[in-house]
Amino acid sequence: MAEEEEEAGVNHVVLLPGPLQGNVNSMMKLAQLLALHHFHVTFLTTDFIHRRLHRFADIQALSQTYPNLELKTISDGLPDDHPRSDNALADLYSFLNSHAKPLIRDILVSQTAAKPKVTCLIGDGFLGGLTADVADEVGIPLIHFRAISASCFWALFCAPNLFESNQLPIRGEEDMDRVITTLPGMENILRCRDLPSFYRGTESNLVEPLKSTVFDCHQTLRARGVILNTFEDLDGPLLSQMRLKFPRVFAVGPLHAHLNSERVFDAKPTPSMSSFWEVDRSCLTWLDSQPLKSVLYVSFGSITTITRERLMEFWYGLVNSKKRFLWVIRPDMVAGEDNNDRVPAELEEGTKERGFIVGWAPQEEVLEHKAIGGFLTHSGWNSTLESVVAGVPMICWPYFADQQINSRFVSEVWKVGLDMKDVCDRDVVEKMVNDLMVHRREEFLNSAKAMAKLAHKSVSPGGSSYSSLLDLIQYIKSTSR
Ligand code: UDP
Repeated sequence: MAEEEEEAGVNHVVLLPGPLQGNVNSMMKLAQLLALHHFHVTFLTTDFIHRRLHRFADIQALSQTYPNLELKTISDGLPDDHPRSDNALADLYSFLNSHAKPLIRDILVSQTAAKPKVTCLIGDGFLGGLTADVADEVGIPLIHFRAISASCFWALFCAPNLFESNQLPIRGEEDMDRVITTLPGMENILRCRDLPSFYRGTESNLVEPLKSTVFDCHQTLRARGVILNTFEDLDGPLLSQMRLKFPRVFAVGPLHAHLNSERVFDAKPTPSMSSFWEVDRSCLTWLDSQPLKSVLYVSFGSITTITRERLMEFWYGLVNSKKRFLWVIRPDMVAGEDNNDRVPAELEEGTKERGFIVGWAPQEEVLEHKAIGGFLTHSGWNSTLESVVAGVPMICWPYFADQQINSRFVSEVWKVGLDMKDVCDRDVVEKMVNDLMVHRREEFLNSAKAMAKLAHKSVSPGGSSYSSLLDLIQYIKSTSR
Protein backbone atom coordinates (compact mmCIF):
# COMPACT_ATOMS: atom_id res chain seq x y z
CA MET A 1 0.00 0.00 0.00
CA ALA A 2 2.89 2.39 0.74
CA GLU A 3 3.83 2.58 -2.89
CA GLU A 4 0.18 3.13 -3.81
CA GLU A 5 -0.17 5.93 -1.30
CA GLU A 6 2.95 7.55 -2.66
CA GLU A 7 1.34 7.54 -6.05
CA ALA A 8 -2.01 8.85 -4.81
CA GLY A 9 -3.18 11.72 -6.95
CA VAL A 10 -1.11 10.60 -9.93
CA ASN A 11 -3.50 8.04 -11.35
CA HIS A 12 -6.88 9.35 -12.35
CA VAL A 13 -9.25 6.84 -13.92
CA VAL A 14 -12.57 7.73 -15.49
CA LEU A 15 -15.21 4.99 -15.56
CA LEU A 16 -18.03 5.34 -18.06
CA PRO A 17 -20.79 2.74 -17.52
CA GLY A 18 -23.67 2.13 -19.90
CA PRO A 19 -26.75 3.82 -18.41
CA LEU A 20 -28.39 0.63 -17.12
CA GLN A 21 -28.76 -0.69 -13.56
CA GLY A 22 -26.69 -3.84 -14.08
CA ASN A 23 -23.87 -1.97 -15.83
CA VAL A 24 -23.82 0.81 -13.22
CA ASN A 25 -23.84 -1.75 -10.37
CA SER A 26 -20.87 -3.72 -11.60
CA MET A 27 -18.81 -0.72 -12.73
CA MET A 28 -19.51 1.02 -9.43
CA LYS A 29 -17.97 -1.98 -7.65
CA LEU A 30 -14.89 -1.66 -9.82
CA ALA A 31 -14.79 2.10 -9.10
CA GLN A 32 -14.86 1.36 -5.37
CA LEU A 33 -12.09 -1.20 -5.68
CA LEU A 34 -9.90 1.26 -7.59
CA ALA A 35 -10.64 3.98 -5.03
CA LEU A 36 -9.57 1.57 -2.28
CA HIS A 37 -6.30 1.21 -4.17
CA HIS A 38 -5.82 4.99 -4.01
CA PHE A 39 -6.74 5.90 -7.54
CA HIS A 40 -8.53 9.17 -8.09
CA VAL A 41 -11.75 7.88 -9.69
CA THR A 42 -14.38 9.74 -11.70
CA PHE A 43 -17.61 7.80 -12.22
CA LEU A 44 -19.34 9.35 -15.21
CA THR A 45 -23.07 8.73 -15.67
CA THR A 46 -25.93 10.42 -17.49
CA ASP A 47 -27.96 13.12 -15.70
CA PHE A 48 -30.94 10.81 -15.48
CA ILE A 49 -28.97 8.04 -13.76
CA HIS A 50 -27.24 10.58 -11.54
CA ARG A 51 -30.63 11.85 -10.32
CA ARG A 52 -31.76 8.33 -9.53
CA LEU A 53 -28.59 7.56 -7.64
CA HIS A 54 -29.03 10.73 -5.61
CA ARG A 55 -32.59 9.76 -4.84
CA PHE A 56 -32.21 6.09 -4.00
CA ALA A 57 -28.55 5.21 -3.42
CA ASP A 58 -26.55 6.01 -0.35
CA ILE A 59 -24.46 8.71 -2.00
CA GLN A 60 -23.44 10.23 1.31
CA ALA A 61 -21.98 6.94 2.51
CA LEU A 62 -20.30 6.53 -0.86
CA SER A 63 -18.49 9.86 -0.66
CA GLN A 64 -17.58 9.36 3.01
CA THR A 65 -16.16 5.89 2.39
CA TYR A 66 -14.43 6.85 -0.84
CA PRO A 67 -13.42 10.54 -0.75
CA ASN A 68 -11.35 9.98 -3.91
CA LEU A 69 -14.38 8.73 -5.88
CA GLU A 70 -16.26 11.49 -7.64
CA LEU A 71 -19.57 11.31 -9.51
CA LYS A 72 -19.88 13.39 -12.71
CA THR A 73 -22.61 13.62 -15.30
CA ILE A 74 -23.36 14.15 -18.95
CA SER A 75 -26.75 14.51 -20.62
CA ASP A 76 -28.29 11.51 -22.39
CA GLY A 77 -30.33 13.91 -24.52
CA LEU A 78 -33.71 12.32 -23.81
CA PRO A 79 -36.64 14.20 -22.21
CA ASP A 80 -37.12 13.66 -18.45
CA ASP A 81 -40.34 11.67 -18.95
CA HIS A 82 -38.78 9.27 -21.49
CA PRO A 83 -39.23 5.67 -20.17
CA ARG A 84 -35.63 4.54 -20.85
CA SER A 85 -36.93 0.97 -20.55
CA ASP A 86 -36.09 -2.07 -22.67
CA ASN A 87 -37.80 -0.92 -25.85
CA ALA A 88 -36.37 2.56 -25.51
CA LEU A 89 -32.79 1.34 -25.15
CA ALA A 90 -32.18 1.91 -28.84
CA ASP A 91 -32.97 5.66 -28.46
CA LEU A 92 -30.62 5.96 -25.55
CA TYR A 93 -27.87 4.06 -27.26
CA SER A 94 -28.11 6.00 -30.51
CA PHE A 95 -28.23 9.39 -28.76
CA LEU A 96 -25.16 8.62 -26.68
CA ASN A 97 -23.29 7.35 -29.72
CA SER A 98 -24.14 10.37 -31.83
CA HIS A 99 -23.98 13.24 -29.28
CA ALA A 100 -22.02 12.29 -26.21
CA LYS A 101 -18.51 12.38 -27.64
CA PRO A 102 -17.76 16.10 -27.04
CA LEU A 103 -19.28 15.88 -23.55
CA ILE A 104 -17.07 12.96 -22.59
CA ARG A 105 -14.05 14.56 -24.23
CA ASP A 106 -14.47 17.71 -22.10
CA ILE A 107 -14.43 15.63 -18.93
CA LEU A 108 -11.38 13.66 -20.04
CA VAL A 109 -9.29 16.74 -20.80
CA SER A 110 -10.38 18.93 -17.87
CA GLN A 111 -7.77 19.25 -15.18
CA THR A 112 -7.50 21.38 -12.05
CA ALA A 113 -4.90 21.79 -9.36
CA ALA A 114 -6.92 19.52 -7.07
CA LYS A 115 -7.58 16.93 -9.72
CA PRO A 116 -4.86 15.14 -11.63
CA LYS A 117 -5.09 14.64 -15.34
CA VAL A 118 -6.98 11.59 -16.53
CA THR A 119 -4.59 8.74 -17.25
CA CYS A 120 -7.01 5.97 -18.22
CA LEU A 121 -10.57 5.55 -19.45
CA ILE A 122 -12.43 2.40 -18.48
CA GLY A 123 -15.35 2.43 -20.87
CA ASP A 124 -18.36 0.13 -20.92
CA GLY A 125 -18.20 -2.09 -23.99
CA PHE A 126 -21.91 -1.27 -24.42
CA LEU A 127 -20.56 2.05 -25.73
CA GLY A 128 -17.68 0.33 -27.53
CA GLY A 129 -17.14 2.51 -30.62
CA LEU A 130 -17.88 5.77 -28.81
CA THR A 131 -15.35 5.12 -26.03
CA ALA A 132 -12.70 3.97 -28.53
CA ASP A 133 -13.19 7.12 -30.68
CA VAL A 134 -13.02 9.51 -27.77
CA ALA A 135 -10.00 7.79 -26.19
CA ASP A 136 -8.17 7.91 -29.53
CA GLU A 137 -9.02 11.56 -29.96
CA VAL A 138 -7.65 12.66 -26.59
CA GLY A 139 -4.82 10.11 -26.55
CA ILE A 140 -5.80 8.36 -23.33
CA PRO A 141 -5.38 4.58 -22.85
CA LEU A 142 -8.71 2.78 -23.02
CA ILE A 143 -9.72 -0.44 -21.30
CA HIS A 144 -13.13 -1.89 -22.00
CA PHE A 145 -15.36 -3.26 -19.27
CA ARG A 146 -17.90 -5.91 -20.23
CA ALA A 147 -20.93 -6.01 -17.95
CA ILE A 148 -22.39 -8.96 -19.84
CA SER A 149 -21.17 -12.53 -19.36
CA ALA A 150 -17.93 -13.72 -20.96
CA SER A 151 -19.90 -16.37 -22.86
CA CYS A 152 -22.20 -13.76 -24.41
CA PHE A 153 -19.36 -11.43 -25.31
CA TRP A 154 -17.47 -14.27 -26.93
CA ALA A 155 -20.54 -15.66 -28.76
CA LEU A 156 -21.15 -12.19 -30.23
CA PHE A 157 -17.52 -11.64 -31.04
CA CYS A 158 -17.50 -14.91 -33.00
CA ALA A 159 -20.62 -14.00 -35.05
CA PRO A 160 -18.77 -13.55 -38.37
CA ASN A 161 -17.27 -17.06 -38.05
CA LEU A 162 -20.67 -18.53 -37.19
CA PHE A 163 -22.16 -17.04 -40.35
CA GLU A 164 -19.16 -18.21 -42.37
CA SER A 165 -19.47 -21.79 -41.14
CA ASN A 166 -23.22 -21.77 -41.86
CA GLN A 167 -24.17 -22.18 -38.22
CA LEU A 168 -26.11 -18.94 -38.54
CA PRO A 169 -28.64 -17.49 -39.18
CA ILE A 170 -31.26 -19.36 -37.16
CA ARG A 171 -33.81 -20.66 -39.64
CA GLY A 172 -37.05 -20.15 -37.73
CA GLU A 173 -38.70 -21.79 -34.71
CA GLU A 174 -38.08 -25.33 -35.97
CA ASP A 175 -34.34 -24.64 -36.00
CA MET A 176 -34.14 -23.59 -32.34
CA ASP A 177 -32.88 -26.94 -31.00
CA ARG A 178 -30.04 -27.29 -33.51
CA VAL A 179 -26.69 -27.53 -31.71
CA ILE A 180 -23.95 -24.98 -32.45
CA THR A 181 -20.80 -26.98 -33.04
CA THR A 182 -18.13 -24.46 -33.98
CA LEU A 183 -18.00 -21.87 -31.22
CA PRO A 184 -14.44 -22.03 -29.84
CA GLY A 185 -14.40 -22.87 -26.13
CA MET A 186 -18.07 -23.87 -26.08
CA GLU A 187 -18.42 -26.42 -28.88
CA ASN A 188 -21.66 -28.47 -28.69
CA ILE A 189 -22.91 -26.66 -25.60
CA LEU A 190 -25.39 -24.23 -27.11
CA ARG A 191 -28.52 -24.80 -29.09
CA CYS A 192 -29.73 -21.96 -31.31
CA ARG A 193 -32.20 -20.99 -28.56
CA ASP A 194 -29.27 -20.52 -26.16
CA LEU A 195 -27.51 -17.92 -28.28
CA PRO A 196 -27.73 -14.27 -27.16
CA SER A 197 -31.18 -12.92 -28.04
CA PHE A 198 -29.74 -10.62 -30.72
CA TYR A 199 -29.39 -13.71 -32.94
CA ARG A 200 -33.13 -14.35 -32.85
CA GLY A 201 -35.77 -13.15 -35.28
CA THR A 202 -36.28 -12.96 -38.97
CA GLU A 203 -33.69 -11.55 -41.32
CA SER A 204 -35.40 -8.15 -41.39
CA ASN A 205 -35.45 -7.47 -37.66
CA LEU A 206 -32.29 -9.44 -36.92
CA VAL A 207 -29.74 -7.55 -38.89
CA GLU A 208 -29.61 -4.12 -37.20
CA PRO A 209 -29.44 -5.05 -33.49
CA LEU A 210 -27.09 -7.93 -34.24
CA LYS A 211 -24.85 -5.82 -36.44
CA SER A 212 -24.46 -3.11 -33.83
CA THR A 213 -23.79 -5.47 -30.91
CA VAL A 214 -21.28 -7.47 -32.94
CA PHE A 215 -19.72 -4.21 -34.15
CA ASP A 216 -19.36 -3.04 -30.53
CA CYS A 217 -17.73 -6.32 -29.52
CA HIS A 218 -15.13 -5.89 -32.25
CA GLN A 219 -14.47 -2.34 -31.04
CA THR A 220 -12.92 -3.94 -27.97
CA LEU A 221 -9.97 -4.85 -30.22
CA ARG A 222 -9.19 -1.10 -30.17
CA ALA A 223 -8.87 -1.12 -26.37
CA ARG A 224 -5.65 -1.99 -24.53
CA GLY A 225 -7.48 -4.71 -22.66
CA VAL A 226 -10.84 -6.03 -21.53
CA ILE A 227 -12.15 -6.42 -17.99
CA LEU A 228 -14.64 -9.22 -17.36
CA ASN A 229 -16.72 -9.74 -14.25
CA THR A 230 -16.01 -13.46 -14.04
CA PHE A 231 -13.40 -15.87 -12.69
CA GLU A 232 -11.19 -18.61 -14.11
CA ASP A 233 -13.01 -21.53 -12.45
CA LEU A 234 -16.30 -20.35 -13.97
CA ASP A 235 -15.27 -19.42 -17.50
CA GLY A 236 -11.71 -20.80 -17.96
CA PRO A 237 -12.13 -22.39 -21.42
CA LEU A 238 -13.67 -19.19 -22.85
CA LEU A 239 -11.06 -16.96 -21.27
CA SER A 240 -8.31 -19.07 -22.88
CA GLN A 241 -9.91 -18.56 -26.30
CA MET A 242 -10.30 -14.84 -25.72
CA ARG A 243 -6.65 -14.49 -24.79
CA LEU A 244 -5.81 -15.63 -28.33
CA LYS A 245 -7.57 -12.51 -29.66
CA PHE A 246 -7.18 -9.84 -26.99
CA PRO A 247 -3.83 -8.68 -25.64
CA ARG A 248 -5.04 -8.41 -22.03
CA VAL A 249 -8.05 -10.13 -20.48
CA PHE A 250 -8.57 -9.18 -16.84
CA ALA A 251 -10.99 -11.68 -15.28
CA VAL A 252 -11.49 -9.87 -11.97
CA GLY A 253 -14.90 -11.08 -10.83
CA PRO A 254 -17.06 -11.50 -8.93
CA LEU A 255 -16.50 -7.81 -8.17
CA HIS A 256 -19.00 -7.65 -5.32
CA ALA A 257 -17.26 -10.61 -3.66
CA HIS A 258 -13.97 -8.69 -3.80
CA LEU A 259 -15.57 -5.78 -2.01
CA ASN A 260 -17.25 -7.92 0.59
CA SER A 261 -14.09 -9.84 1.34
CA GLU A 262 -12.77 -8.21 4.50
CA ARG A 263 -9.66 -10.32 4.29
CA VAL A 264 -8.66 -8.31 1.23
CA PHE A 265 -9.92 -4.78 1.82
CA ASP A 266 -10.53 -2.78 4.94
CA ALA A 267 -13.75 -0.99 3.90
CA LYS A 268 -17.07 -2.77 3.74
CA PRO A 269 -19.52 -1.04 1.39
CA THR A 270 -23.21 -0.79 2.07
CA PRO A 271 -25.09 -2.64 -0.66
CA SER A 272 -27.31 0.18 -1.94
CA MET A 273 -24.63 2.48 -3.31
CA SER A 274 -25.85 2.30 -6.88
CA SER A 275 -29.57 1.57 -6.67
CA PHE A 276 -32.02 3.14 -9.16
CA TRP A 277 -35.08 2.22 -7.05
CA GLU A 278 -36.08 2.66 -3.45
CA VAL A 279 -34.82 -0.40 -1.59
CA ASP A 280 -37.51 -2.03 0.56
CA ARG A 281 -35.66 -3.63 3.47
CA SER A 282 -38.83 -4.94 5.15
CA CYS A 283 -38.34 -8.21 3.27
CA LEU A 284 -35.22 -8.92 5.36
CA THR A 285 -37.34 -8.85 8.54
CA TRP A 286 -39.85 -11.18 6.89
CA LEU A 287 -37.00 -13.50 5.85
CA ASP A 288 -35.73 -13.56 9.45
CA SER A 289 -38.93 -15.35 10.46
CA GLN A 290 -38.79 -18.03 7.72
CA PRO A 291 -37.23 -21.50 8.09
CA LEU A 292 -33.74 -22.27 6.79
CA LYS A 293 -33.47 -22.36 2.97
CA SER A 294 -37.27 -22.48 2.60
CA VAL A 295 -37.86 -19.34 0.49
CA LEU A 296 -37.63 -18.95 -3.28
CA TYR A 297 -36.46 -15.44 -4.20
CA VAL A 298 -38.06 -14.24 -7.47
CA SER A 299 -36.73 -11.28 -9.42
CA PHE A 300 -36.47 -10.44 -13.10
CA GLY A 301 -33.97 -7.61 -12.74
CA SER A 302 -34.22 -3.96 -13.63
CA ILE A 303 -35.30 -3.95 -17.29
CA THR A 304 -37.56 -6.96 -17.93
CA THR A 305 -41.19 -6.13 -18.62
CA ILE A 306 -43.85 -8.83 -18.82
CA THR A 307 -47.49 -9.03 -19.81
CA ARG A 308 -50.20 -9.50 -17.17
CA GLU A 309 -50.86 -12.97 -18.65
CA ARG A 310 -47.27 -14.01 -17.97
CA LEU A 311 -47.33 -12.44 -14.54
CA MET A 312 -50.35 -14.60 -13.75
CA GLU A 313 -48.63 -17.77 -15.00
CA PHE A 314 -45.79 -17.11 -12.56
CA TRP A 315 -48.20 -16.15 -9.77
CA TYR A 316 -50.28 -19.33 -10.12
CA GLY A 317 -47.14 -21.45 -10.46
CA LEU A 318 -45.64 -19.98 -7.29
CA VAL A 319 -48.80 -20.27 -5.20
CA ASN A 320 -49.57 -23.78 -6.50
CA SER A 321 -46.04 -24.94 -5.67
CA LYS A 322 -46.94 -24.40 -1.99
CA LYS A 323 -43.43 -23.04 -1.38
CA ARG A 324 -42.61 -19.74 0.32
CA PHE A 325 -41.57 -16.94 -2.01
CA LEU A 326 -40.22 -13.40 -1.92
CA TRP A 327 -41.06 -11.65 -5.19
CA VAL A 328 -39.76 -8.37 -6.61
CA ILE A 329 -42.47 -6.78 -8.77
CA ARG A 330 -41.05 -3.45 -9.93
CA PRO A 331 -43.60 -0.64 -10.34
CA ASP A 332 -42.88 -0.62 -14.10
CA MET A 333 -42.60 -4.38 -14.59
CA VAL A 334 -46.00 -5.15 -16.11
CA ALA A 335 -46.30 -3.42 -19.45
CA GLY A 336 -48.83 -0.59 -19.40
CA GLU A 337 -49.96 -1.02 -15.77
CA ASP A 338 -49.44 0.71 -12.45
CA ASN A 339 -49.96 -0.97 -9.08
CA ASN A 340 -49.38 -4.30 -10.75
CA ASP A 341 -48.51 -6.05 -7.51
CA ARG A 342 -52.14 -6.07 -6.34
CA VAL A 343 -52.94 -9.64 -5.36
CA PRO A 344 -55.54 -11.39 -7.54
CA ALA A 345 -58.50 -12.54 -5.38
CA GLU A 346 -58.09 -16.25 -6.12
CA LEU A 347 -54.42 -16.14 -5.12
CA GLU A 348 -54.83 -13.93 -2.08
CA GLU A 349 -54.79 -16.64 0.54
CA GLY A 350 -51.75 -18.52 -0.81
CA THR A 351 -49.84 -15.26 -1.32
CA LYS A 352 -50.63 -13.99 2.18
CA GLU A 353 -49.73 -17.32 3.75
CA ARG A 354 -46.43 -17.94 2.01
CA GLY A 355 -45.49 -14.92 -0.07
CA PHE A 356 -43.98 -11.45 0.33
CA ILE A 357 -43.88 -8.86 -2.46
CA VAL A 358 -41.64 -5.79 -2.73
CA GLY A 359 -40.98 -3.21 -5.44
CA TRP A 360 -37.18 -3.47 -5.14
CA ALA A 361 -35.13 -5.62 -2.77
CA PRO A 362 -31.61 -5.39 -1.33
CA GLN A 363 -30.79 -8.31 -3.59
CA GLU A 364 -27.25 -9.13 -2.53
CA GLU A 365 -28.33 -9.27 1.12
CA VAL A 366 -31.45 -11.26 0.26
CA LEU A 367 -29.44 -13.89 -1.61
CA GLU A 368 -27.04 -14.20 1.33
CA HIS A 369 -29.92 -14.66 3.80
CA LYS A 370 -30.10 -18.09 5.42
CA ALA A 371 -33.83 -18.44 4.62
CA ILE A 372 -33.22 -18.34 0.84
CA GLY A 373 -33.14 -21.77 -0.84
CA GLY A 374 -33.51 -20.85 -4.51
CA PHE A 375 -33.69 -17.98 -7.00
CA LEU A 376 -36.14 -17.71 -9.90
CA THR A 377 -34.21 -15.25 -12.05
CA HIS A 378 -34.16 -13.67 -15.50
CA SER A 379 -30.46 -14.64 -15.61
CA GLY A 380 -29.02 -11.14 -15.87
CA TRP A 381 -25.28 -11.42 -15.43
CA ASN A 382 -25.13 -9.58 -12.10
CA SER A 383 -27.98 -11.63 -10.66
CA THR A 384 -26.33 -14.83 -11.86
CA LEU A 385 -23.01 -13.94 -10.24
CA GLU A 386 -24.69 -12.81 -7.03
CA SER A 387 -26.48 -16.15 -6.84
CA VAL A 388 -23.28 -18.07 -7.59
CA VAL A 389 -21.41 -16.24 -4.81
CA ALA A 390 -24.24 -16.84 -2.33
CA GLY A 391 -24.42 -20.53 -3.27
CA VAL A 392 -28.10 -20.28 -4.23
CA PRO A 393 -29.41 -22.64 -6.98
CA MET A 394 -31.38 -21.00 -9.79
CA ILE A 395 -34.42 -21.46 -11.97
CA CYS A 396 -33.79 -19.39 -15.07
CA TRP A 397 -36.37 -17.57 -17.14
CA PRO A 398 -34.20 -15.56 -19.55
CA TYR A 399 -35.65 -12.46 -21.18
CA PHE A 400 -33.08 -10.95 -23.55
CA ALA A 401 -29.42 -10.07 -24.33
CA ASP A 402 -26.96 -12.41 -22.55
CA GLN A 403 -29.67 -14.06 -20.44
CA GLN A 404 -30.36 -16.90 -22.91
CA ILE A 405 -26.74 -18.03 -22.87
CA ASN A 406 -26.31 -17.45 -19.12
CA SER A 407 -29.24 -19.73 -18.34
CA ARG A 408 -27.73 -22.47 -20.52
CA PHE A 409 -24.46 -22.25 -18.60
CA VAL A 410 -26.35 -22.37 -15.28
CA SER A 411 -28.14 -25.58 -16.21
CA GLU A 412 -25.75 -27.44 -18.53
CA VAL A 413 -22.22 -26.28 -17.72
CA TRP A 414 -22.15 -25.30 -14.06
CA LYS A 415 -25.16 -27.46 -13.17
CA VAL A 416 -26.39 -25.10 -10.49
CA GLY A 417 -30.00 -24.87 -11.61
CA LEU A 418 -32.74 -25.39 -14.17
CA ASP A 419 -33.51 -23.54 -17.41
CA MET A 420 -37.14 -22.63 -18.17
CA LYS A 421 -36.16 -20.95 -21.41
CA ASP A 422 -38.95 -19.95 -23.84
CA VAL A 423 -41.69 -21.41 -21.66
CA CYS A 424 -44.02 -19.46 -19.41
CA ASP A 425 -46.57 -21.86 -18.01
CA ARG A 426 -47.95 -22.19 -14.48
CA ASP A 427 -47.54 -26.00 -14.41
CA VAL A 428 -43.91 -25.77 -15.49
CA VAL A 429 -43.25 -23.05 -12.89
CA GLU A 430 -44.84 -25.20 -10.17
CA LYS A 431 -42.87 -28.30 -11.23
CA MET A 432 -39.52 -26.52 -11.47
CA VAL A 433 -39.98 -24.83 -8.10
CA ASN A 434 -40.61 -28.22 -6.53
CA ASP A 435 -37.75 -29.86 -8.41
CA LEU A 436 -35.35 -27.17 -7.20
CA MET A 437 -36.65 -26.78 -3.67
CA VAL A 438 -37.66 -30.38 -2.89
CA HIS A 439 -36.92 -33.29 -5.25
CA ARG A 440 -33.40 -32.30 -6.38
CA ARG A 441 -32.70 -29.96 -3.47
CA GLU A 442 -29.56 -31.68 -2.14
CA GLU A 443 -28.01 -32.09 -5.59
CA PHE A 444 -28.44 -28.41 -6.45
CA LEU A 445 -27.51 -27.08 -3.05
CA ASN A 446 -24.29 -29.13 -3.12
CA SER A 447 -23.25 -27.99 -6.59
CA ALA A 448 -24.12 -24.35 -5.81
CA LYS A 449 -22.13 -24.55 -2.59
CA ALA A 450 -19.11 -25.97 -4.44
CA MET A 451 -19.29 -23.18 -7.02
CA ALA A 452 -19.61 -20.53 -4.31
CA LYS A 453 -16.47 -21.89 -2.69
CA LEU A 454 -14.57 -21.47 -5.94
CA ALA A 455 -15.90 -17.92 -6.31
CA HIS A 456 -14.68 -16.98 -2.83
CA LYS A 457 -11.34 -18.64 -3.47
CA SER A 458 -10.87 -16.60 -6.64
CA VAL A 459 -11.04 -13.29 -4.76
CA SER A 460 -8.90 -14.44 -1.82
CA PRO A 461 -5.15 -13.68 -1.72
CA GLY A 462 -3.48 -15.83 -4.37
CA GLY A 463 -6.79 -16.50 -6.15
CA SER A 464 -7.11 -15.91 -9.90
CA SER A 465 -9.35 -12.81 -9.69
CA TYR A 466 -7.37 -11.38 -6.81
CA SER A 467 -4.20 -11.61 -8.92
CA SER A 468 -5.98 -10.34 -12.02
CA LEU A 469 -7.21 -7.25 -10.18
CA LEU A 470 -3.65 -6.54 -9.03
CA ASP A 471 -2.46 -7.01 -12.64
CA LEU A 472 -5.09 -4.54 -13.80
CA ILE A 473 -4.02 -2.01 -11.19
CA GLN A 474 -0.36 -2.39 -12.15
CA TYR A 475 -1.22 -2.11 -15.82
CA ILE A 476 -3.20 1.12 -15.35
CA LYS A 477 -0.31 2.58 -13.38
CA SER A 478 2.18 1.53 -16.04
CA THR A 479 0.19 3.34 -18.76
CA SER A 480 0.56 6.67 -16.95
CA ARG A 481 4.33 6.54 -16.59
N1 UDP B 1 -31.33 -5.75 -8.03
C1 UDP B 1 -31.57 -5.26 -6.76
N2 UDP B 1 -32.82 -5.37 -6.27
C2 UDP B 1 -33.84 -5.95 -6.95
C3 UDP B 1 -33.58 -6.46 -8.23
C4 UDP B 1 -32.30 -6.37 -8.76
O1 UDP B 1 -30.68 -4.73 -6.10
O2 UDP B 1 -34.94 -5.99 -6.42
C5 UDP B 1 -29.96 -5.62 -8.58
C6 UDP B 1 -29.26 -6.95 -8.63
O3 UDP B 1 -28.63 -7.20 -7.39
C7 UDP B 1 -28.31 -6.77 -9.79
C8 UDP B 1 -28.99 -5.74 -10.69
O4 UDP B 1 -30.03 -5.16 -9.91
O5 UDP B 1 -27.07 -6.27 -9.33
C9 UDP B 1 -29.62 -6.35 -11.91
O6 UDP B 1 -28.62 -6.63 -12.81
P1 UDP B 1 -28.69 -7.88 -13.78
O7 UDP B 1 -27.44 -7.88 -14.59
O8 UDP B 1 -28.95 -9.12 -13.01
O9 UDP B 1 -29.97 -7.66 -14.66
P2 UDP B 1 -30.53 -6.40 -15.51
O10 UDP B 1 -31.28 -5.57 -14.55
O11 UDP B 1 -29.34 -5.69 -16.12
O12 UDP B 1 -31.42 -7.04 -16.51
